[in-house]
Amino acid sequence: MDILDTIKARDPNEKEFHQAVEEVIESVRPVLDRYPEFRKAAILERITEPERVVMFRVPWMDDQGQIHVNRGYRIGMNSAIGPYKGGLRFHPSVTLSILKFLAFEQVFKNALTTLAMGGGKGGSDFDPKGKSDNEVMRFCQAFMSELYRHIGPNTDVPAGDIGVGAREIGFLFGMYKKLKNEFTGVLTGKSLGWGGSLIRPEATGYGAIYFAAEMLATRNDTFKGKKCLVSGSGNVAQYAVEKIIQLGGKVLTMSDSSGYIFDEAGIDADKLAFVMRLKNVRRGRIKEYAEKYPQAVYTPVDSSLNYNPLWDHAADCAFPCATQNEIDEKDAINLANNGAMLACEGANMPCTPAAIDIFMDKKVLYAPGKASNAGGVAVSGLEMAQNSMRLAWTRKEVDNRLKTIMKSIHSTCLEAAADFGQDGNYMAGANIAGFVKVVNAMLDQGLV
Ligand code: NDP
Repeated sequence: MDILDTIKARDPNEKEFHQAVEEVIESVRPVLDRYPEFRKAAILERITEPERVVMFRVPWMDDQGQIHVNRGYRIGMNSAIGPYKGGLRFHPSVTLSILKFLAFEQVFKNALTTLAMGGGKGGSDFDPKGKSDNEVMRFCQAFMSELYRHIGPNTDVPAGDIGVGAREIGFLFGMYKKLKNEFTGVLTGKSLGWGGSLIRPEATGYGAIYFAAEMLATRNDTFKGKKCLVSGSGNVAQYAVEKIIQLGGKVLTMSDSSGYIFDEAGIDADKLAFVMRLKNVRRGRIKEYAEKYPQAVYTPVDSSLNYNPLWDHAADCAFPCATQNEIDEKDAINLANNGAMLACEGANMPCTPAAIDIFMDKKVLYAPGKASNAGGVAVSGLEMAQNSMRLAWTRKEVDNRLKTIMKSIHSTCLEAAADFGQDGNYMAGANIAGFVKVVNAMLDQGLV
Protein backbone atom coordinates (compact mmCIF):
# COMPACT_ATOMS: atom_id res chain seq x y z
CA MET A 1 0.00 0.00 0.00
CA ASP A 2 1.23 3.54 -0.77
CA ILE A 3 2.37 5.38 2.35
CA LEU A 4 -0.34 8.03 1.96
CA ASP A 5 -3.06 5.38 1.77
CA THR A 6 -1.67 3.79 4.91
CA ILE A 7 -1.71 7.12 6.74
CA LYS A 8 -5.25 7.87 5.59
CA ALA A 9 -6.48 4.42 6.54
CA ARG A 10 -4.91 4.68 9.97
CA ASP A 11 -6.38 8.09 10.85
CA PRO A 12 -9.17 8.70 8.34
CA ASN A 13 -10.42 11.91 9.97
CA GLU A 14 -7.15 13.83 9.95
CA LYS A 15 -7.65 15.67 6.68
CA GLU A 16 -5.42 18.66 7.48
CA PHE A 17 -2.60 16.30 8.42
CA HIS A 18 -3.11 14.30 5.20
CA GLN A 19 -2.96 17.56 3.20
CA ALA A 20 0.36 18.59 4.76
CA VAL A 21 1.89 15.12 4.38
CA GLU A 22 0.75 14.74 0.79
CA GLU A 23 2.41 18.02 -0.21
CA VAL A 24 5.74 16.96 1.28
CA ILE A 25 5.62 13.42 -0.10
CA GLU A 26 4.89 14.70 -3.61
CA SER A 27 7.87 17.07 -3.38
CA VAL A 28 10.37 14.54 -2.05
CA ARG A 29 9.67 11.67 -4.47
CA PRO A 30 12.73 12.60 -6.59
CA VAL A 31 14.87 12.66 -3.43
CA LEU A 32 13.81 9.10 -2.60
CA ASP A 33 14.66 8.07 -6.14
CA ARG A 34 18.13 9.58 -5.83
CA TYR A 35 18.79 8.14 -2.36
CA PRO A 36 17.35 4.61 -2.22
CA GLU A 37 18.76 4.21 1.29
CA PHE A 38 16.04 6.61 2.51
CA ARG A 39 13.33 4.22 1.34
CA LYS A 40 15.15 1.22 2.76
CA ALA A 41 15.22 2.95 6.16
CA ALA A 42 11.40 3.39 5.96
CA ILE A 43 12.00 7.09 6.37
CA LEU A 44 8.55 8.23 5.18
CA GLU A 45 6.84 5.85 7.58
CA ARG A 46 8.98 7.15 10.45
CA ILE A 47 8.89 10.86 9.67
CA THR A 48 5.09 10.96 9.34
CA GLU A 49 4.47 9.33 12.73
CA PRO A 50 4.85 11.65 15.76
CA GLU A 51 7.51 10.56 18.22
CA ARG A 52 4.95 11.24 20.90
CA VAL A 53 1.49 12.73 21.46
CA VAL A 54 0.25 13.87 24.84
CA MET A 55 -3.47 14.58 25.30
CA PHE A 56 -4.87 15.79 28.57
CA ARG A 57 -7.90 17.16 30.39
CA VAL A 58 -7.84 20.88 31.25
CA PRO A 59 -10.50 21.69 33.88
CA TRP A 60 -10.89 25.36 34.82
CA MET A 61 -13.40 27.66 36.47
CA ASP A 62 -14.93 30.80 34.91
CA ASP A 63 -15.67 34.06 36.73
CA GLN A 64 -19.18 32.86 37.60
CA GLY A 65 -17.83 29.75 39.32
CA GLN A 66 -18.86 27.42 36.51
CA ILE A 67 -16.49 24.57 35.63
CA HIS A 68 -15.37 23.95 32.03
CA VAL A 69 -13.35 21.11 30.58
CA ASN A 70 -11.12 21.66 27.56
CA ARG A 71 -8.72 19.32 25.87
CA GLY A 72 -4.97 19.97 25.87
CA TYR A 73 -2.37 18.54 23.48
CA ARG A 74 1.36 18.52 22.88
CA ILE A 75 2.90 16.72 19.94
CA GLY A 76 6.60 15.90 19.72
CA MET A 77 6.87 15.27 16.01
CA ASN A 78 10.61 14.94 15.42
CA SER A 79 13.66 15.61 17.59
CA ALA A 80 16.40 14.54 15.15
CA ILE A 81 18.04 17.96 14.96
CA GLY A 82 17.15 19.46 18.35
CA PRO A 83 14.57 19.71 21.14
CA TYR A 84 10.95 19.89 20.00
CA LYS A 85 10.06 23.48 19.16
CA GLY A 86 6.76 24.92 17.99
CA GLY A 87 3.85 27.02 19.14
CA LEU A 88 0.75 26.50 21.23
CA ARG A 89 -2.60 27.33 19.62
CA PHE A 90 -5.71 28.15 21.64
CA HIS A 91 -8.70 28.14 19.30
CA PRO A 92 -12.02 26.26 19.26
CA SER A 93 -11.08 24.67 15.92
CA VAL A 94 -8.06 22.88 17.42
CA THR A 95 -8.04 19.11 16.87
CA LEU A 96 -5.36 16.46 16.80
CA SER A 97 -5.36 16.68 13.00
CA ILE A 98 -4.71 20.44 12.99
CA LEU A 99 -1.89 20.09 15.50
CA LYS A 100 -0.33 17.13 13.68
CA PHE A 101 -0.29 19.12 10.44
CA LEU A 102 1.28 22.08 12.21
CA ALA A 103 3.85 19.90 13.98
CA PHE A 104 4.74 18.16 10.72
CA GLU A 105 5.24 21.48 8.91
CA GLN A 106 7.28 22.72 11.85
CA VAL A 107 9.85 19.92 11.45
CA PHE A 108 10.87 21.10 7.98
CA LYS A 109 10.52 24.79 8.79
CA ASN A 110 12.83 24.51 11.78
CA ALA A 111 15.35 22.58 9.71
CA LEU A 112 15.38 25.42 7.17
CA THR A 113 16.28 28.02 9.81
CA THR A 114 19.73 26.37 10.22
CA LEU A 115 19.19 26.39 14.02
CA ALA A 116 19.15 23.22 16.12
CA MET A 117 15.43 22.76 16.68
CA GLY A 118 13.20 19.73 16.23
CA GLY A 119 9.49 20.09 15.48
CA GLY A 120 6.50 20.12 17.82
CA LYS A 121 3.15 21.81 18.31
CA GLY A 122 0.41 21.89 20.89
CA GLY A 123 -2.59 23.75 22.15
CA SER A 124 -6.19 23.46 23.17
CA ASP A 125 -9.73 23.91 21.90
CA PHE A 126 -10.10 26.69 24.50
CA ASP A 127 -11.31 30.01 23.03
CA PRO A 128 -9.66 33.03 24.72
CA LYS A 129 -12.02 35.37 22.85
CA GLY A 130 -14.51 37.05 25.20
CA LYS A 131 -12.81 35.66 28.33
CA SER A 132 -11.60 37.91 31.15
CA ASP A 133 -7.89 38.13 31.95
CA ASN A 134 -8.56 36.11 35.11
CA GLU A 135 -10.30 33.37 33.16
CA VAL A 136 -7.43 33.22 30.67
CA MET A 137 -4.98 33.04 33.57
CA ARG A 138 -6.86 30.21 35.26
CA PHE A 139 -7.03 28.32 32.00
CA CYS A 140 -3.29 28.79 31.31
CA GLN A 141 -2.45 27.62 34.82
CA ALA A 142 -4.63 24.54 34.45
CA PHE A 143 -3.09 23.80 31.04
CA MET A 144 0.46 24.13 32.36
CA SER A 145 -0.28 22.03 35.45
CA GLU A 146 -0.17 19.02 33.11
CA LEU A 147 2.09 20.27 30.29
CA TYR A 148 5.01 21.05 32.61
CA ARG A 149 5.80 17.34 32.97
CA HIS A 150 6.48 16.99 29.26
CA ILE A 151 8.50 20.10 28.38
CA GLY A 152 11.84 21.63 29.36
CA PRO A 153 14.57 23.85 27.92
CA ASN A 154 16.40 20.82 26.48
CA THR A 155 13.33 18.70 25.72
CA ASP A 156 10.55 20.76 24.26
CA VAL A 157 10.25 24.56 24.12
CA PRO A 158 6.75 25.82 23.20
CA ALA A 159 5.94 29.34 21.90
CA GLY A 160 2.80 31.24 20.88
CA ASP A 161 0.50 30.77 17.90
CA ILE A 162 -3.14 31.68 17.24
CA GLY A 163 -4.73 32.76 20.53
CA VAL A 164 -1.45 32.56 22.46
CA GLY A 165 0.32 35.91 22.68
CA ALA A 166 2.40 37.71 25.29
CA ARG A 167 -0.37 37.58 27.93
CA GLU A 168 -0.81 33.81 27.66
CA ILE A 169 2.94 33.12 27.51
CA GLY A 170 3.31 35.13 30.76
CA PHE A 171 0.66 33.09 32.60
CA LEU A 172 2.04 29.81 31.24
CA PHE A 173 5.60 30.69 32.21
CA GLY A 174 4.57 31.77 35.71
CA MET A 175 2.92 28.42 36.37
CA TYR A 176 5.82 26.42 34.91
CA LYS A 177 8.30 28.30 37.08
CA LYS A 178 6.23 27.66 40.19
CA LEU A 179 5.75 23.96 39.52
CA LYS A 180 9.36 23.24 38.50
CA ASN A 181 11.00 25.62 40.95
CA GLU A 182 13.31 26.88 38.24
CA PHE A 183 13.66 29.88 35.94
CA THR A 184 14.66 28.52 32.54
CA GLY A 185 14.06 29.38 28.90
CA VAL A 186 11.26 26.82 28.58
CA LEU A 187 8.98 29.06 26.53
CA THR A 188 9.77 31.62 23.87
CA GLY A 189 7.82 34.77 23.12
CA LYS A 190 8.44 35.93 26.69
CA SER A 191 8.21 39.62 27.57
CA LEU A 192 11.39 41.64 27.38
CA GLY A 193 11.76 42.20 31.12
CA TRP A 194 12.10 38.48 31.91
CA GLY A 195 13.95 36.70 29.15
CA GLY A 196 12.22 37.68 25.92
CA SER A 197 14.09 38.69 22.79
CA LEU A 198 13.79 41.97 20.97
CA ILE A 199 12.16 41.49 17.53
CA ARG A 200 10.41 38.23 18.55
CA PRO A 201 6.93 39.79 18.29
CA GLU A 202 7.85 41.25 14.90
CA ALA A 203 9.78 38.24 13.62
CA THR A 204 7.19 36.20 11.72
CA GLY A 205 5.64 39.17 9.93
CA TYR A 206 8.95 40.91 9.23
CA GLY A 207 10.53 37.64 8.14
CA ALA A 208 7.74 36.93 5.65
CA ILE A 209 8.23 40.35 4.09
CA TYR A 210 12.04 39.95 3.98
CA PHE A 211 11.43 36.65 2.18
CA ALA A 212 8.99 38.28 -0.25
CA ALA A 213 11.50 41.06 -0.92
CA GLU A 214 14.02 38.38 -1.91
CA MET A 215 11.43 36.82 -4.23
CA LEU A 216 10.72 40.19 -5.85
CA ALA A 217 14.46 40.74 -6.26
CA THR A 218 14.62 37.61 -8.45
CA ARG A 219 12.47 39.62 -10.87
CA ASN A 220 14.54 42.78 -10.33
CA ASP A 221 11.64 44.27 -8.43
CA THR A 222 10.96 45.77 -4.97
CA PHE A 223 8.03 46.60 -2.67
CA LYS A 224 8.00 50.25 -3.80
CA GLY A 225 4.44 51.10 -4.80
CA LYS A 226 3.21 47.49 -4.62
CA LYS A 227 -0.44 47.09 -3.67
CA CYS A 228 -0.76 44.35 -1.06
CA LEU A 229 -3.67 42.34 0.30
CA VAL A 230 -3.12 41.05 3.85
CA SER A 231 -5.50 38.79 5.78
CA GLY A 232 -5.61 38.55 9.57
CA SER A 233 -5.00 41.28 12.12
CA GLY A 234 -3.11 39.30 14.73
CA ASN A 235 0.59 39.06 15.45
CA VAL A 236 1.78 37.95 12.03
CA ALA A 237 -0.48 40.27 10.03
CA GLN A 238 0.34 43.36 12.11
CA TYR A 239 4.09 43.13 11.62
CA ALA A 240 3.82 42.05 7.99
CA VAL A 241 1.83 45.24 7.41
CA GLU A 242 4.38 47.31 9.33
CA LYS A 243 7.27 46.03 7.22
CA ILE A 244 5.40 46.42 3.91
CA ILE A 245 4.73 50.06 4.81
CA GLN A 246 8.41 50.57 5.74
CA LEU A 247 9.52 49.13 2.40
CA GLY A 248 7.22 51.46 0.45
CA GLY A 249 4.32 49.12 -0.29
CA LYS A 250 0.63 49.94 0.12
CA VAL A 251 -1.59 47.67 2.24
CA LEU A 252 -5.26 47.63 1.26
CA THR A 253 -6.83 45.01 3.54
CA MET A 254 -6.79 43.38 6.99
CA SER A 255 -9.29 40.96 8.49
CA ASP A 256 -10.42 38.89 11.44
CA SER A 257 -12.67 35.85 11.61
CA SER A 258 -15.78 38.07 11.36
CA GLY A 259 -14.88 40.06 8.22
CA TYR A 260 -12.37 42.30 6.47
CA ILE A 261 -11.73 45.96 5.79
CA PHE A 262 -10.67 47.43 2.45
CA ASP A 263 -8.97 50.80 2.61
CA GLU A 264 -8.25 52.14 -0.85
CA ALA A 265 -6.10 54.96 0.57
CA GLY A 266 -3.84 52.37 2.19
CA ILE A 267 -3.27 51.40 5.83
CA ASP A 268 -0.51 53.76 6.95
CA ALA A 269 1.55 53.71 10.16
CA ASP A 270 -1.05 55.67 12.15
CA LYS A 271 -3.90 53.44 11.05
CA LEU A 272 -1.79 50.37 11.87
CA ALA A 273 -1.15 51.78 15.35
CA PHE A 274 -4.94 51.98 15.74
CA VAL A 275 -5.28 48.31 14.68
CA MET A 276 -2.58 47.26 17.14
CA ARG A 277 -4.31 49.02 20.03
CA LEU A 278 -7.67 47.67 18.92
CA LYS A 279 -6.46 44.06 18.73
CA ASN A 280 -3.76 43.84 21.40
CA VAL A 281 -5.12 46.12 24.12
CA ARG A 282 -8.87 46.50 23.64
CA ARG A 283 -9.26 43.07 22.01
CA GLY A 284 -11.88 44.53 19.66
CA ARG A 285 -13.03 43.57 16.15
CA ILE A 286 -11.63 44.78 12.81
CA LYS A 287 -15.07 46.18 11.96
CA GLU A 288 -14.22 49.13 14.22
CA TYR A 289 -11.53 50.21 11.72
CA ALA A 290 -14.26 51.23 9.28
CA GLU A 291 -16.03 53.15 12.05
CA LYS A 292 -12.82 55.05 12.83
CA TYR A 293 -11.83 55.53 9.16
CA PRO A 294 -15.13 55.86 7.28
CA GLN A 295 -13.51 55.82 3.83
CA ALA A 296 -12.71 52.15 4.46
CA VAL A 297 -15.29 49.49 3.63
CA TYR A 298 -16.07 46.63 6.02
CA THR A 299 -17.37 43.37 4.58
CA PRO A 300 -18.60 40.69 7.00
CA VAL A 301 -17.80 37.01 6.32
CA ASP A 302 -20.43 35.47 4.05
CA SER A 303 -20.20 31.71 4.30
CA SER A 304 -22.63 31.25 1.38
CA LEU A 305 -19.89 32.47 -1.02
CA ASN A 306 -17.46 29.97 -2.55
CA TYR A 307 -14.67 32.56 -2.47
CA ASN A 308 -13.32 35.20 -0.10
CA PRO A 309 -13.91 38.72 -1.44
CA LEU A 310 -10.76 39.91 0.36
CA TRP A 311 -8.72 38.19 -2.37
CA ASP A 312 -10.84 39.66 -5.16
CA HIS A 313 -9.25 43.13 -5.31
CA ALA A 314 -6.68 44.31 -7.83
CA ALA A 315 -3.27 44.00 -6.16
CA ASP A 316 0.31 42.94 -6.82
CA CYS A 317 0.95 40.80 -3.75
CA ALA A 318 -1.09 38.61 -1.40
CA PHE A 319 -0.10 37.80 2.19
CA PRO A 320 -2.44 35.34 3.89
CA CYS A 321 -1.61 35.77 7.58
CA ALA A 322 -4.69 34.39 9.39
CA THR A 323 -5.18 30.63 9.25
CA GLN A 324 -5.05 27.40 7.22
CA ASN A 325 -6.89 26.96 3.92
CA GLU A 326 -7.97 30.60 3.57
CA ILE A 327 -7.03 30.86 -0.12
CA ASP A 328 -8.81 28.27 -2.23
CA GLU A 329 -8.82 27.67 -5.99
CA LYS A 330 -11.33 30.41 -6.81
CA ASP A 331 -9.43 32.94 -4.67
CA ALA A 332 -6.18 32.07 -6.43
CA ILE A 333 -7.89 32.50 -9.80
CA ASN A 334 -9.26 35.88 -8.70
CA LEU A 335 -5.85 36.99 -7.50
CA ALA A 336 -4.12 35.95 -10.72
CA ASN A 337 -6.83 37.47 -12.92
CA ASN A 338 -6.54 40.74 -10.98
CA GLY A 339 -2.82 40.89 -11.70
CA ALA A 340 -1.18 39.46 -8.57
CA MET A 341 2.45 38.48 -9.14
CA LEU A 342 3.29 37.11 -5.69
CA ALA A 343 1.60 35.10 -2.92
CA CYS A 344 3.64 34.69 0.22
CA GLU A 345 2.30 32.71 3.20
CA GLY A 346 2.52 34.37 6.62
CA ALA A 347 0.14 31.79 8.11
CA ASN A 348 0.67 28.02 8.09
CA MET A 349 -0.81 26.27 5.04
CA PRO A 350 -3.21 29.13 4.15
CA CYS A 351 -3.27 28.08 0.48
CA THR A 352 -5.04 24.88 -0.53
CA PRO A 353 -3.30 22.49 -2.95
CA ALA A 354 -5.71 23.61 -5.71
CA ALA A 355 -4.77 27.26 -5.08
CA ILE A 356 -1.07 26.43 -5.22
CA ASP A 357 -1.59 24.67 -8.56
CA ILE A 358 -3.19 27.85 -9.93
CA PHE A 359 -0.25 29.97 -8.73
CA MET A 360 2.23 27.60 -10.36
CA ASP A 361 0.20 27.52 -13.53
CA LYS A 362 -0.14 31.29 -13.81
CA LYS A 363 3.50 31.94 -12.86
CA VAL A 364 2.56 33.77 -9.66
CA LEU A 365 5.59 33.64 -7.34
CA TYR A 366 4.46 31.42 -4.46
CA ALA A 367 6.19 30.97 -1.08
CA PRO A 368 5.10 28.18 1.31
CA GLY A 369 4.76 29.13 4.98
CA LYS A 370 7.35 26.64 6.12
CA ALA A 371 9.92 28.84 4.38
CA SER A 372 8.40 32.31 4.42
CA ASN A 373 7.05 32.35 7.99
CA ALA A 374 10.10 30.66 9.53
CA GLY A 375 11.33 34.00 10.89
CA GLY A 376 9.21 33.56 14.02
CA VAL A 377 10.70 30.28 15.07
CA ALA A 378 14.14 31.46 13.98
CA VAL A 379 14.02 34.36 16.43
CA SER A 380 12.59 31.97 19.03
CA GLY A 381 15.79 30.00 18.47
CA LEU A 382 17.75 33.21 19.00
CA GLU A 383 15.75 33.82 22.20
CA MET A 384 16.79 30.35 23.42
CA ALA A 385 20.41 31.14 22.61
CA GLN A 386 20.25 34.44 24.52
CA ASN A 387 18.57 32.70 27.49
CA SER A 388 21.31 30.06 27.59
CA MET A 389 23.99 32.73 27.55
CA ARG A 390 22.00 34.93 29.95
CA LEU A 391 22.41 38.01 27.80
CA ALA A 392 20.27 40.08 25.45
CA TRP A 393 21.18 41.20 21.95
CA THR A 394 20.17 44.60 20.59
CA ARG A 395 17.22 45.11 18.30
CA LYS A 396 19.55 45.76 15.40
CA GLU A 397 21.56 42.63 16.04
CA VAL A 398 18.49 40.36 16.16
CA ASP A 399 16.93 42.05 13.11
CA ASN A 400 20.15 41.58 11.14
CA ARG A 401 20.30 37.91 12.11
CA LEU A 402 16.65 37.53 11.08
CA LYS A 403 17.36 39.12 7.70
CA THR A 404 20.36 36.87 7.15
CA ILE A 405 18.35 33.78 8.07
CA MET A 406 15.46 34.70 5.72
CA LYS A 407 17.91 35.38 2.90
CA SER A 408 19.57 32.04 3.51
CA ILE A 409 16.23 30.16 3.60
CA HIS A 410 15.34 31.84 0.31
CA SER A 411 18.54 30.75 -1.41
CA THR A 412 18.39 27.27 0.15
CA CYS A 413 14.90 26.78 -1.35
CA LEU A 414 15.99 27.90 -4.80
CA GLU A 415 19.17 25.79 -4.73
CA ALA A 416 17.37 22.63 -3.59
CA ALA A 417 14.66 23.15 -6.20
CA ALA A 418 17.25 23.64 -8.95
CA ASP A 419 19.20 20.58 -7.79
CA PHE A 420 16.09 18.46 -8.41
CA GLY A 421 15.15 20.08 -11.72
CA GLN A 422 12.37 22.30 -10.37
CA ASP A 423 13.79 25.77 -10.93
CA GLY A 424 11.99 28.55 -9.08
CA ASN A 425 9.65 26.18 -7.22
CA TYR A 426 9.90 27.38 -3.60
CA MET A 427 7.53 24.70 -2.34
CA ALA A 428 9.57 21.84 -3.75
CA GLY A 429 12.79 23.50 -2.60
CA ALA A 430 11.58 24.06 0.97
CA ASN A 431 10.27 20.53 1.33
CA ILE A 432 13.36 18.93 -0.17
CA ALA A 433 15.94 20.96 1.77
CA GLY A 434 14.15 20.53 5.12
CA PHE A 435 13.54 16.83 4.48
CA VAL A 436 17.13 15.98 3.53
CA LYS A 437 18.55 17.69 6.60
CA VAL A 438 16.19 15.94 9.02
CA VAL A 439 16.50 12.55 7.34
CA ASN A 440 20.29 12.61 7.41
CA ALA A 441 20.17 13.32 11.15
CA MET A 442 17.66 10.49 11.66
CA LEU A 443 19.87 8.05 9.77
CA ASP A 444 22.94 9.09 11.78
CA GLN A 445 21.07 8.43 15.03
CA GLY A 446 19.90 4.90 14.17
CA LEU A 447 16.50 3.34 14.59
CA VAL A 448 15.08 5.23 17.56
P1 NDP B 1 -3.20 35.61 16.20
O1 NDP B 1 -4.09 34.86 17.11
O2 NDP B 1 -2.38 36.71 16.72
O3 NDP B 1 -4.05 36.18 14.96
C1 NDP B 1 -4.78 35.34 14.14
C2 NDP B 1 -5.57 36.18 13.17
O4 NDP B 1 -6.21 35.34 12.23
C3 NDP B 1 -6.68 36.97 13.83
O5 NDP B 1 -6.93 38.13 13.09
C4 NDP B 1 -7.86 36.00 13.76
O6 NDP B 1 -9.11 36.62 13.83
C5 NDP B 1 -7.63 35.40 12.39
N1 NDP B 1 -8.19 34.04 12.35
C6 NDP B 1 -7.91 33.03 13.19
N2 NDP B 1 -8.61 31.93 12.89
C7 NDP B 1 -9.36 32.30 11.83
C8 NDP B 1 -10.32 31.60 11.05
N3 NDP B 1 -10.63 30.32 11.30
N4 NDP B 1 -10.88 32.28 10.01
C9 NDP B 1 -10.55 33.58 9.76
N5 NDP B 1 -9.68 34.29 10.47
C10 NDP B 1 -9.09 33.65 11.49
O7 NDP B 1 -2.28 34.49 15.49
P2 NDP B 1 -0.92 34.68 14.71
O8 NDP B 1 -0.92 35.96 13.98
O9 NDP B 1 0.17 34.36 15.65
O10 NDP B 1 -0.99 33.46 13.68
C11 NDP B 1 -1.54 33.60 12.37
C12 NDP B 1 -1.06 32.46 11.49
O11 NDP B 1 0.37 32.51 11.41
C13 NDP B 1 -1.39 31.06 11.97
O12 NDP B 1 -1.55 30.22 10.84
C14 NDP B 1 -0.12 30.64 12.71
O13 NDP B 1 0.03 29.22 12.78
C15 NDP B 1 0.92 31.26 11.80
N6 NDP B 1 2.24 31.46 12.39
C16 NDP B 1 2.39 32.23 13.52
C17 NDP B 1 3.65 32.44 14.03
C18 NDP B 1 3.88 33.36 15.18
O14 NDP B 1 5.06 33.62 15.47
N7 NDP B 1 2.88 33.88 15.83
C19 NDP B 1 4.84 31.78 13.45
C20 NDP B 1 4.58 31.08 12.22
C21 NDP B 1 3.32 30.91 11.74
P3 NDP B 1 -9.94 36.61 15.22
O15 NDP B 1 -9.32 37.69 16.04
O16 NDP B 1 -11.34 36.87 14.82
O17 NDP B 1 -9.73 35.24 15.81
